[in-house]
Amino acid sequence: MFPVMLCLDRVPCLVVGGGDVALRKVTGLVRDGALATVVAPEAVSGIRELAEAGSVTLESRPYRTGEAAGYRLVFAATDDRDVNRQVRDDATAGGVWVNVADDPELCTFHLPARVERGPLQISIASGGGAPFIVRRLREMLEKWFAPEWNEWARAAARFRDAVRSSSLGPEQRETVFDRFFAETVDREHLRVRAPGDAETASWLAGTDGPGESPQRRAFVSLVGAGPGNGGLLSLRGYRRLMHADAVVYDRLAAPAMPCDVPRRVELYPVGKVAGHHPVPQDEINALLVSLASQGKRVVRFKGGDPYVFGRGGEEALALRAAGIAFEVIPGITAGVAGPGWAGVPVTHRHVSSRVTLYTAHQAADGIPSSGEDVPSGGAGATTVGYMGVANLEAVVDGLLERGFAGSTPAMLIEQATTARQRSVRASLATLPEAAERSKIRPPALIVVGAAVALAEQLDWFSGLPLAGERLVLAAPAGTLGASLELAGAEVLVVSVPLTPAARVAIAALPVTGWLARNADEARSLGRDLLSADPEGVAAAWCFNEEAAGAARQCGWERARTLSTFAPEGVVQGIADRRTT
Ligand code: SAH
Repeated sequence: MFPVMLCLDRVPCLVVGGGDVALRKVTGLVRDGALATVVAPEAVSGIRELAEAGSVTLESRPYRTGEAAGYRLVFAATDDRDVNRQVRDDATAGGVWVNVADDPELCTFHLPARVERGPLQISIASGGGAPFIVRRLREMLEKWFAPEWNEWARAAARFRDAVRSSSLGPEQRETVFDRFFAETVDREHLRVRAPGDAETASWLAGTDGPGESPQRRAFVSLVGAGPGNGGLLSLRGYRRLMHADAVVYDRLAAPAMPCDVPRRVELYPVGKVAGHHPVPQDEINALLVSLASQGKRVVRFKGGDPYVFGRGGEEALALRAAGIAFEVIPGITAGVAGPGWAGVPVTHRHVSSRVTLYTAHQAADGIPSSGEDVPSGGAGATTVGYMGVANLEAVVDGLLERGFAGSTPAMLIEQATTARQRSVRASLATLPEAAERSKIRPPALIVVGAAVALAEQLDWFSGLPLAGERLVLAAPAGTLGASLELAGAEVLVVSVPLTPAARVAIAALPVTGWLARNADEARSLGRDLLSADPEGVAAAWCFNEEAAGAARQCGWERARTLSTFAPEGVVQGIADRRTT
């Protein structure tokens, strides 16, 4: 079925039949300006009234064979199948489009259900295949698109006229149309507002867009990404990312990059990426200043909290020096999130009443190690060291020298809150040995204090059936996404084709698998993911054989069939068959 919108102004149309169905068709035709003729021996009062008002021609007689061919559009709406069939045969013989009420097979066109808001028309059709979804969808859309959309659509049409009669070039036009949309539509809640003419005129006046607008105030948001798990980013930070022009991100922030950051947003990696050195701090500062000075909305996306061992303060000072306004959006720092994820409450009544976050990396950036920044004592406290795994022995020695007992419970947590989280517990004195055995690598935290012992009872994460899984799922995630997450998996919900932001998140940490609910998903997501993960080492979890076949066809040899669509069944299936 090929959708079109017909202009029926003064077009001769025929309706055969005089009942309520016919009345509905006639009413629609009259409204759209058609020259409608109704042929029926008897007609309901609604039709008779339209005829009396001169809106339609009513011929009170039976249908005459052949007459349908003289119109452009024909509706057969009698309750006699033979008549309907005759009308249809005549129409098709004469090359006329014909619709037969309640008989999709006889139709050469269908009428979609529609939701109208001003000049905006939303048509819904199922090709006759599933009228029940059409009716329900129409009810949904009627509710979603509240009456305020009428005025909005009219304002949009007026705005388009104004843009057309302006001198703007094609690219600038797109920019102002984007602006109209951004300023008037709340995409998440489908709410709109109709802007006034003065307001739209101001958008037209300041047309040069985010790229060059001299009026736009340079502004940088220093956003904490949280410890790495995508769900641990603040709502405020998320909103800044969604509306950014440019995002400058660190390696530790990359796993938490939301997959739905729009394609138009420029992404600048400045962290260490395999084999390359990180961008030096003064170059990062210069980049922030330069991007902001171009009038771009800049997000500086940093792991954990920007002001906790993140050099966020230095960046803020550089911005201040350059006269650029900024805000700080705190993030959950790894030193608090990590212990929580690994079963350690950093404060606990009668056990720990103080938390110390310190950098265990003494020689950081040439600051001489005086030993003074090592916390002393440790009873009744939880001490969390950042950046200390590389020289763990020295770090532990430092603590012992400062009065920590060798028997104090201690823990290392690697890649906390992500699917790669691993931890080891030992006494402080034996921690280096334990770390050596389990090959703990940075980024990792050192957690020391009596509260660490509580992990024995409070480790809620590592035993989950899908702990360690980092799974990609096509949007919408539905209830499945929540079930996977509750079972311990990290879930990246992506749209296809993958956005650049999704590619950043996917590449940041190994993906262990992806899900295909049907063959379509298997093909589209499978192909895209293969380019993000060329080795294809992740498992393709397919809900049925057909999907698995499609996944194998595009190169996923390890495609496995789960044979279920129930979220709990999917969780169980992955848990039973994963190899980790
Ligand atoms: N601003 C960040 C810290 C950056 S310093 C924050 O607030 O969390 C980098 C150090 O943070 C790493 O060497 C490591 O010690 C720690 N770190 C950051 N994320 C971590 C994670 N997910 N798991 C364990 N340690 C982490």
